[in-house]
Amino acid sequence: MEYEAVIGLETHVQLKTKSKMWCGCANQYGSEPNTNVCPVCLGMPGVLPVPNEEALRKTVLTGYLLNCEIPRYAKFDRKNYFYPDASKNYQLTQYDKPSTANGFVEFEFNGKGSENGLAKVRITRAHLEEDVGKLTHFDRTSGVDFNRAGVPLLEIVSEPDLTGADMAYEYLNALKEILQQGGVSDCDMEKGMVRCDVNISVRPVGTKELGAKIEIKNMNSFSGVRRAAEYEINRQIEVLKSGGKLIQSTRRWDDVAGITEEMRTKENAHDYRYFPEPDMMPLAPTDAWLAEVKAQVVELPSARKQRFMRDYQLPAGDAEVFKSNIALGNYFEGLARQAKNPKAVANWIINNLLAKLAEATEKLAAEQAYDEPLTPSLSPSDGERVAQPGEGLAGLKFPPAALLELVALVEAKTISSSAAQQVFAEMFATGKTPAAIVQEKGLAQVSDTGAIEKFCDEAIAANPAPVADYRAGKVAALNALKGQVMKLSKGKANPALVGEILERKLKG
Ligand SMILES: [Zn+2]
Repeated sequence: MEYEAVIGLETHVQLKTKSKMWCGCANQYGSEPNTNVCPVCLGMPGVLPVPNEEALRKTVLTGYLLNCEIPRYAKFDRKNYFYPDASKNYQLTQYDKPSTANGFVEFEFNGKGSENGLAKVRITRAHLEEDVGKLTHFDRTSGVDFNRAGVPLLEIVSEPDLTGADMAYEYLNALKEILQQGGVSDCDMEKGMVRCDVNISVRPVGTKELGAKIEIKNMNSFSGVRRAAEYEINRQIEVLKSGGKLIQSTRRWDDVAGITEEMRTKENAHDYRYFPEPDMMPLAPTDAWLAEVKAQVVELPSARKQRFMRDYQLPAGDAEVFKSNIALGNYFEGLARQAKNPKAVANWIINNLLAKLAEATEKLAAEQAYDEPLTPSLSPSDGERVAQPGEGLAGLKFPPAALLELVALVEAKTISSSAAQQVFAEMFATGKTPAAIVQEKGLAQVSDTGAIEKFCDEAIAANPAPVADYRAGKVAALNALKGQVMKLSKGKANPALVGEILERKLKG
């Protein structure tokens, strides 16, 4: 019997806010332990939570980005349990009335569960809750840091639409890209901003009923999810094939050993005794508030890629560059709308401009590194960010129209493609217009047939050997003569014309 896997993911994502969910403490990674805390996030008796409006906004914004419905009524509930990283003994979350529901994520994937290279995974809900503190275990004691307690956390629950480990991996990457580009979360894996629980079951191919759901808890890397899912799918199939039975249970992934281990089975699963949070009013977003949030929705990366391929006839590789580098894509689009040949504009941006910008960024970074003292920063997260090549666009010395002018000069054969490289380097460095540079450096291509005929005659007279070779049938010998003509014209002769004229003269 053949088996297939059915996977659903619960992804926890920290929202990008200045302060925590219910208090004014900083939502900041890397501070000294227990310095971003107050009576509210420490769960002292008598305190009252005040919702962070920016977190509510980013939750609904996520809903829009994930094509969700936004219910007009949502509420918070207490999920009761004891654990040392949660001092309140409950977590505030949304149980039966979440802020968003019934969405989907579309992403590029080739394999089972995809159609024409695209896969669609339904999103059950994305609900808002709070993060808990962080435990650190020492030799004989443990420490708890409550800086993370109360940080707004979004739980994004997918339907069991994933068919395998690779698809789960691609889904997570797509989700991360949407949340980052949508401005909802930084999704920094190193800082634990994204964690997920993976629900896996297997069933005989052709059956509809789901097998026993087995959950792998607390995965903090996408590659880990892929390896754990691969392992777990094979393990479950092995159990069934050897006549065993699977029961609903929770497992943990041992990354070093590369195996999953059982933590608990359904028999002793938690009962969280959810009840509505009595200290909080239900949420009832108004039309005006929803419209304000909706105005923040940006075009999603995959939609943008598809649109660039369709509207500007770009190959997938070019569109991919503009998909992930928003600033560069906007720059391209500004020019492509006015260009006769958007593909030529894309070539210049991707092959030349991007390289020059990267060079400039590297140079700047090297200079800054030289200026700074060599003591390493204590809190690497504070204010430290890596510049993206796209950011250099604002500082370009030439106006965007100059690039269009350059493309037009090449297409009109006024300059050769090698001269165009020189013009580009010069306009990048000085901001002069292409026309001025062509004039100043005398780069205009010679398309005057009379002048080229003269150079061709000279080259033929001075190089009898290649001439004889060519006439004897060695077609490649023409290149040697072409080279001579280009040299005589100081590189300015139109190469296509040179070829035509040489051939005519040698055959005649
Ligand atoms: Zn606090």
